[in-house]
Amino acid sequence: MNTNDCSLIEPLLAAYLDGELAPAAAERLDVHLAACEGCRTVLGELAEVDRLLGDDAIPVPTGQEWAAVEWRLLARTRRVFAGRLVRTCALAAAAVALLGALAWLAVRVFPPAGTVDGPGAYTAQGGKTPAGDEETLGISVEHVERF
Ligand SMILES: [Zn+2]
Repeated sequence: MNTNDCSLIEPLLAAYLDGELAPAAAERLDVHLAACEGCRTVLGELAEVDRLLGDDAIPVPTGQEWAAVEWRLLARTRRVFAGRLVRTCALAAAAVALLGALAWLAVRVFPPAGTVDGPGAYTAQGGKTPAGDEETLGISVEHVERF
């Protein structure tokens, strides 16, 4: 290890401070720290953090507290998904209504072949015109009704 490279030294400082380094590595850090004011400053800041934290362990949530957190997260997740489901269904219903309206409009504007209005012909609504001239299109109503 190059003891002059601070970027290699700094990640080891916390372990150094806690006495977790192997003796040889700790000796190399001692050499670097003796010559490097920047790393000594970082080591001093880490020592200050340790001092401020003292012996007070970071509180660990109890099982009951974790259960409460999980419950709140689950409830929030359900609300989010329920909202998305409602929006998705509303959007799908609007799309179906729009397609239905477009289909109705298309049939009204461009009636399918064989549904031309006229005596004896079928209308776009599927009924016969009242005049009853069955030979207008060359096909009798009985012939159409058979198929
Ligand atoms: Zn350094």
